[in-house]
Amino acid sequence: MYPAVIEEYVRPTTVEDAVDVLGRYPGGEAIFLAGGQSVMQAIKSRMMRPRCVIDLQDISSLKGIAVNADGIRLGAMVRYVDIVRCAELPPAYAALRDAAQHVGDRQVRNRGTIGGSCCWNYLASCLPATVLALGGTMMLLRQDGHRREMAVDDFLIGPLETARGDDEILTAIHFKAATRTGSAYQKWGLLKDALPVVGVCVKVSLDGDGRCIAARISLSGLAAGAQRAPGGEIVLVGSAGETGIIEKAFAMIAEQVDAQSDQWANSAYRQQLIRTLGREVATRAFGRARGES
Ligand SMILES: Cc1cc2nc3c(=O)[nH]c(=O)nc-3n(C[C@H](O)[C@H](O)[C@H](O)COP(=O)(O)OP(=O)(O)OC[C@H]3O[C@@H](n4cnc5c(N)ncnc54)[C@H](O)[C@@H]3O)c2cc1C
Repeated sequence: MYPAVIEEYVRPTTVEDAVDVLGRYPGGEAIFLAGGQSVMQAIKSRMMRPRCVIDLQDISSLKGIAVNADGIRLGAMVRYVDIVRCAELPPAYAALRDAAQHVGDRQVRNRGTIGGSCCWNYLASCLPATVLALGGTMMLLRQDGHRREMAVDDFLIGPLETARGDDEILTAIHFKAATRTGSAYQKWGLLKDALPVVGVCVKVSLDGDGRCIAARISLSGLAAGAQRAPGGEIVLVGSAGETGIIEKAFAMIAEQVDAQSDQWANSAYRQQLIRTLGREVATRAFGRARGES
């Protein structure tokens, strides 16, 4: 399949130049190209017919993972393989590695980016759900130079929809530093390392006695897209990660969510995956928060 005619292809070296080009075209007629792992399929099938493609791969300020006392900043063009290779990820954000190391195949991991995945926000993608459970802050730059920060809970609206304006670029995702905190992500797909039928991400913070003081749980693979599971989060708070309480939390989540039946799995199967994956993931997140490997 061949794309429709693309009038202009540009490779800016700064984010300012990138949003400047974006502003020369009416909304949606110019698009960003990150790893191309989703958008190129849409362009080749002519679901998208952009007049201009703005390739972000030469913008060095969008790359790199910075870990310091404030937390972690991942540039929007950080690829899955960069996350997998990052040796400094603290246990609070270990779920990023869990997710990135099983996205697609090696080619997809070498090209696909965290920014592209979150901006595309496909319902079964691993990274939007992971960033959601980890409570990331999305950093955006508008064409007129205005910068804004947005909680990921507000950024992810629904499948293939975000709160990013047509005139904005996602520059980075920031995660606050957190102590006695652990996270984990796991998915199950019909093929190894393929898009998940269901994915579960958990982040827990513990007090000095090892009891949970804050929990965030998210799910991927459901029809409504990446979503939190507040009912289960409440059950985990106050616990020390006892198996019975974790099982109770995920049994409640499986009952409460709208798990669709489709060609890949029926509703009951998805609910069972939520219970099984949830127990494993939450147990690992508690262990990481306690400093276990
Ligand atoms: C074979 C295959 C298997 C896959 N398996 C998985 C899987 O197991 N798990 C999973 O999570 N995903 C999977 N994917 C999807 C993959 O994760 C994509 O990489 C991801 O969805 C898009 O990231 P990208 O960098 O390629 O973005 P692109 O496709 O380049 O862009 C996606 C969208 O985001 C916009 N965009 C990109 N960057 C920015 C930015 N900085 N600011 C504003 N807008 C931006 C683009 O304009 C476009 O609309 C798979 C894909 C393939 C082809």
